[in-house]
Amino acid sequence: MTDKHPHGVSHAVFMENLNETNELAHNEIPENGKEARIVRNIIDSKAMLDFNPALNTSSYVQVQFEEEEFEVMNHGQRINLADQTIYPHAFKIHDESVNMIANMWHCPEDDDVKKYGVHAGAGTVGSTEACLLAGLALKFRWRSWYAKKHGLTHDQVLAVKPNLVISTCYQAAWEKLFRYFDIEPRLAPTSVRNFAIDPATLHEYVDEKTIGVVGIMGNHWAGQFDKIHEINDVIDKLNHEKGYQVGIHVDAASGGFIAPFIKDCPTWDFRLPNVLSISASGHKYGEACAGTGWVVWRHRKDLSEHVAVDVSYLGGHADSYTLNFSRPATGVFSQYYKLLRFGKAGYQAACDNALANSKALRQALMAMTYKGKPRFELLDSDQNPALPVVAMRLNPELKLHYNDIDLQNALSMSHWYVSGYKMSTCHPTLGYEIPLFTDEDAECTMFRVVIKAHITTPLVKDLIGAFEEALDFLDQHDNQYDSKKLRHRKHRTITNHC
Ligand SMILES: *Cc1c(COP(=O)(O)O)cnc(C)c1O
Repeated sequence: MTDKHPHGVSHAVFMENLNETNELAHNEIPENGKEARIVRNIIDSKAMLDFNPALNTSSYVQVQFEEEEFEVMNHGQRINLADQTIYPHAFKIHDESVNMIANMWHCPEDDDVKKYGVHAGAGTVGSTEACLLAGLALKFRWRSWYAKKHGLTHDQVLAVKPNLVISTCYQAAWEKLFRYFDIEPRLAPTSVRNFAIDPATLHEYVDEKTIGVVGIMGNHWAGQFDKIHEINDVIDKLNHEKGYQVGIHVDAASGGFIAPFIKDCPTWDFRLPNVLSISASGHKYGEACAGTGWVVWRHRKDLSEHVAVDVSYLGGHADSYTLNFSRPATGVFSQYYKLLRFGKAGYQAACDNALANSKALRQALMAMTYKGKPRFELLDSDQNPALPVVAMRLNPELKLHYNDIDLQNALSMSHWYVSGYKMSTCHPTLGYEIPLFTDEDAECTMFRVVIKAHITTPLVKDLIGAFEEALDFLDQHDNQYDSKKLRHRKHRTITNHC
């Protein structure tokens, strides 16, 4: 008989340490260290209490990796991208990724690109850092234009508060820009019918203090694309008539790697002359690991140069664009791996597949009826170019006592996480809830399913079954219980998240 646990830890020690994992939290550094496997067990046993990441349809962030990619990511963890002089070859992987992505978005190649060997752009920690850098570049570009126009000194122009125009369907990244960098949000209203900015009303929001207009390529609420080409035309006209120099930033967090692969997608990228910058999350449909994002600028001069720090290294100069300094090469390596591993054909297949699976889910849900009426009302853009997202709400005509957030909770019994939320958002600077739409009550609810590459057809079938079971459960409770109890049950409401 042996008292050794298979992992080489004595059995008594193992049991003792296992019980230690029952401690709720370690808020003091323990006196003595523990065995590596025990520590891993402690962490694993906490994380296993969470939802299964693969069944989390509420997030756009990709969660599946191949073994080789894990190895590459591990390697990247030991490389500090800020050390460009020590790791110039690793940094070249960053620059090549920027170029591949800039070319996919049809970024023009000027003399600076030839001189630097790379488009003006950067790998970032997700879209948020990318949006913040792009917003800052627009702000500084506007500032020098405004100071010149009004003959202001640098100190005088600092006292002028600029604004940025974006639809109410903005993502929380922009709340950070408005709050951290003192930019006034000009929220253009949207309709529940399309969740998109109305280009015809833009002139009401743009003035000479506008640093730019953000177009969203795939709002996170229901996946519709803003009409960037129409925004481009309106901006052209406004700039011409009023002497402005307003440009567009495209927040393509989710759509940056989807729109290029949708055949009939209206032009949205650098082919439109007023598009000055584009950002995307590598970790969404770019298929890289969490913590990966990209920003690309149309040109360097009087745009990205405002947020560039010159890095000199042996034999050369390079621009560095980041809000932080040290960070691992993990995300950049993961992105480069995916770009080479997938190729354009792979991204095309992943996009086609996700769109086909979202269509199958949409059709199955839309075919469901209750008391002779459709169960759901469609909110996403159906067959029009958009993200592979299904967004709906329980048909209000059914006058059910449960709502879409109750549906989220009932679905979780089948281990699926589908987010339900209210049609409201927190105003970025005023701090209170405002309605998301001009034509729908802020208290109304909806739900959304994000179809990612790993959600295969059999998984979609299982999810459809989970919807049937959840609705069955809720219907029984709708009839049996006091409706107020259900409505006021405490539920986790998630608004405006990724
Ligand atoms: C997800 C998302 C963001 C933020 O992206 P992160 O990569 O999570 O930082 C910004 N804008 C839109 C439209 C998004 O969907």
